[in-house]
Formats: sequence, C-alpha cells, structure tokens
Amino acid sequence: MADGRFAPSPTGSLHVGNLRTALLAWLFARAEGGRFLIRVEDLDPVSSREHLVDEQLADLAALGLDHDGPIIRQSDPNVRARHESAVSALDDTGLLYPCFCTRREVAEAAWAAHGPLPEGAYPGTCRDLTLDQRAERAAERADRGPAWRVRADLAEVTVVDRVAGEHTGVVDDFVVRRGDGVPAYNLAVVVDDAAQGIEEVVRGDDLLEGTPRQVWLHRVLGLDVPSYAHVPLVLGPDRERLAKRHGSVSLSELVAAGRTPEQLVGAMGESLGLASTSETATPESLLDRFDPDAVRRDPWVFDPPGDSADH
Ligand code: GLU
Repeated sequence: MADGRFAPSPTGSLHVGNLRTALLAWLFARAEGGRFLIRVEDLDPVSSREHLVDEQLADLAALGLDHDGPIIRQSDPNVRARHESAVSALDDTGLLYPCFCTRREVAEAAWAAHGPLPEGAYPGTCRDLTLDQRAERAAERADRGPAWRVRADLAEVTVVDRVAGEHTGVVDDFVVRRGDGVPAYNLAVVVDDAAQGIEEVVRGDDLLEGTPRQVWLHRVLGLDVPSYAHVPLVLGPDRERLAKRHGSVSLSELVAAGRTPEQLVGAMGESLGLASTSETATPESLLDRFDPDAVRRDPWVFDPPGDSADH
C-alpha cells in the first residue's frame, strides 16, 4: 500500500509527457492498493490562470484518472499556514538565515565559487553576516524582504529511486521562503507530501536533481521520507523534450486532431509495454498488467499529429 499523488503547476496545458507521468503516478498508487491524490501547486496564484486549473483537472478526469479525497491547493490559506509553521519550526532549530542576494548576485557568486559546490549552488554569501551587516543589507534592499535559506552544510544525500536508480546530490543552502514571503517550492512540496500522507512520489525525472534537498528537509523536519520514482520525460521525433512546437501535444489539441482519450491512454500503455499498438485503453484496463518494478528508464518518443515534419 503506497499512497501517491500527481501535483501539477497551473503554468500551461498538460502535454502528453505530463499526462503520461500522471498515468504512471496513478498506476503506481493503484497497483499497490494506495490512494491517488491530486494537488494543485499554485504557490503563485494568478487569477488569469484559473482556467488552466480547470483544464488540467478536466484532462485528468477525461483520461480516467480518478482520485481520492478533496483536491488540495497550495494557495489555500490552511495549506499556506502549514508551510509557515514549517518555516517557524526550521527557524527554531537555528538553521535559517536571511539572504539579501538578488538572483543575479547568486548567479555571479555561484559562478565565481570554487570547491565542492555543485553547479549553480548557493555559495553562502549571506550565511555568516553579522547583525550589523544584515541591517545594512536589509536597508539596501528595503523594497523587498530577504529570502530565508537553510544551512544545509553541503550535506550529501543519496536518493534510491525506483526508476532512475541511485542519485547522490550535495545539498546547498536553499531557499525555503522567498523574498516576497511566498513559501519556496522545495519547502511546500515536502510539507504537503508529508501532511497528505504521500508514501510514494512519482514525477518527471527533470525533478530528480532537486530531490536530495527535499529528502534532507524531510529529515530535518522529522517527517517520513517517501519513496521516489522519477519517470522519463517524453521526447518529440527530433529527440528534444516534447513541446508545443512539435504539434498537437495537449489533450484538447489531440482530440481536435481526431484522437480519443482512450487512444491516447492506449498509446501511453504501449510505451510502457502494457498495450499493443492499435489498442484503446483505460487506466483501469492497464492496471493488471502494470509492474512498478519494470518501468523503463529510457524516454518515450511521441510523434504528435500535426508535427511540422509531416508538412
Ligand atoms: N508541481 C511540479 C510541476 O508541475 C511537480 C512537483 C512534484 O511532483 O513534486 O513540475
């Protein structure tokens, strides 16, 4: 039994790659008799994006990905309150410090830093400022509050991923609360997965890189660490990450091009070795044949209708 979830950000339409990740998250959870939850990751709620939330949820339902319990939104004040209490808990441990660096200063300092820091890691510019220095920097940046970072001391964390294998990363002092007061993604995802009882995180393998930070945070906050399955992305026929320019890649575009949701689920099932070429399928019909330990690591190449190569 492993409860799982799909946690889309409403930044655009879900494309075939996101939909396949959602199907996999559903299959992992259901194959192990777990609940499947949906969480809308709208830390930056923008009213003009509300229609994307509706569209994403409608797409998941159209594919037959049923879910348990209410849909949680990260913009919900109650959810936001639990993010804030995790920030306070971290503050109580003495691990937080304010960071006054601009994005550009971080990039420049990271570039100039030497030693064991991984690429792009925060080199600790604001870590040991005296109180006077902090006050001075705060005055210089009066238009915006500081971001809050955790002192992770370059901890080395190994993630044993069910699909991607072992991944070791060095954890830098990452941001848990942004300068505009919004909780950072790494904090929110950890707090919400724990609060929702998520035991298995299934998501795209573009997020594997950041996972050591999240595992570290789970441990520091005394929260159970879920197991992870980072699944491969979907590529276009040119073997670049699937994108709009490849043709019809969202469900509504595919339906407009004459495909049915069942055909798409069939094609995704085929890519997972669970269905044959011309089969239509529902998530339920793939479930009996799904083996969580047999998910391949290689990406799926999808040739969308309306691909520029067809013209
Ligand atoms: N909201 C993230 C995204 O859409 C996914 C976060 C996660 O699954 O942990 O990329």
